[in-house]
Amino acid sequence: MTSSFFPPQRTLMGPGPSDVSPRVLGAVSRPTIGHLDPLFVQLMDEIKGLLQYAFQTENELTIPVSAPGSAGMEACFVNLVSPGDTVIVCQNGVFGGRMKENVERCGGIAVMVEDAWGEPVSVDKTRAAFAEHPEATLLAFVHAETSTGVKSDAAALCALAKENNALSIVDTVTSLAGIELKVDAWGADAVYSGTQKCLSCIPGISPVTFSPAAVERIQNREHKVQSWFLDMQLVMGYWGANTKRAYHHTAPVNDLYALHESLVMLQEEGLENAHARHQRNHEALVAGLEAMGLSMAVAAEHRLPQLNAVNIPEGVDDAAVRTALLQDFNLEIGAGLGALAGKTWRIGLMGYASSPRNVVTCLTALEAVLS
Ligand code: PLP
Repeated sequence: MTSSFFPPQRTLMGPGPSDVSPRVLGAVSRPTIGHLDPLFVQLMDEIKGLLQYAFQTENELTIPVSAPGSAGMEACFVNLVSPGDTVIVCQNGVFGGRMKENVERCGGIAVMVEDAWGEPVSVDKTRAAFAEHPEATLLAFVHAETSTGVKSDAAALCALAKENNALSIVDTVTSLAGIELKVDAWGADAVYSGTQKCLSCIPGISPVTFSPAAVERIQNREHKVQSWFLDMQLVMGYWGANTKRAYHHTAPVNDLYALHESLVMLQEEGLENAHARHQRNHEALVAGLEAMGLSMAVAAEHRLPQLNAVNIPEGVDDAAVRTALLQDFNLEIGAGLGALAGKTWRIGLMGYASSPRNVVTCLTALEAVLS
């Protein structure tokens, strides 16, 4: 007989998932109701409004995709890229590489703007790419590169797309609720995120928002969207306003209770207060790490407060340290990804996990393991 699974109580300070608030975990266990129940439809409307607040947008098409961040990414690409389209893709870490893959799988041509891992996307290089490729119809970039802990200038990049009559696709999986993100003020067109980072919700849902210009492009497509599940025109039959809320797929009812609760918590705290909390705890962590003789991998002006990349000191066994933290302190921190594997640790301070308590827990445990 296989027995029930009871996970230990870890402290999640890696690149995500982050610690889920007990309020959110409580919400998941509420009674399941039908996904077309009038009360559930009311909850869906509230989630849309709360997501508009989180994204700082009035976009009508603002919904949670019933699948993880990667599905939100695909939803943006499959709906906006048609075969033969040229898309400028900025890559300064792992996730820009996935964008390229998405463009090519949609039959588009990806023009890459590459920057070193640990550096932000260069606005100048992106401008030069537009000059060389005036036919580009889209610009895609990652606002907060989780693989490196770097923030890029999303406002400037979205403005650059507009100047060149292109739409922007912006990855905000790690930025939403952790740092400033102003979809309407910046003029971002297709924006996707995840629930498992600074929203401190359970993993597996991807909030997305599409501007009126993006919706117009979707409605005027000549080719059918290659994915049935992620075709926004079909999804809108369930999530859209002024529709009968017809069955499209069975919504993850309890997961959406969780998302609603996490968004209610964000609204209670206020976006600006949430950003200030992330910044405060980040500064405390950095001060503590530097006092221990460790150094940060990213220049101060480009650091993400919610994802701290730390250089692994010479001669220290990366995996042994992370294993000791997990086994002896129930504390998870992240390994370096891709080009930074073995060179950095990634310490998350995301959402509910961004607390003075976690800063102290992490510094104390790391000091004990390293000494
Ligand atoms: N984009 C970024 C920047 C991410 O950090 C992640 C996940 O960590 C994703 C996309 C993919 O999200 P998911 O793992 O939820 O599919």
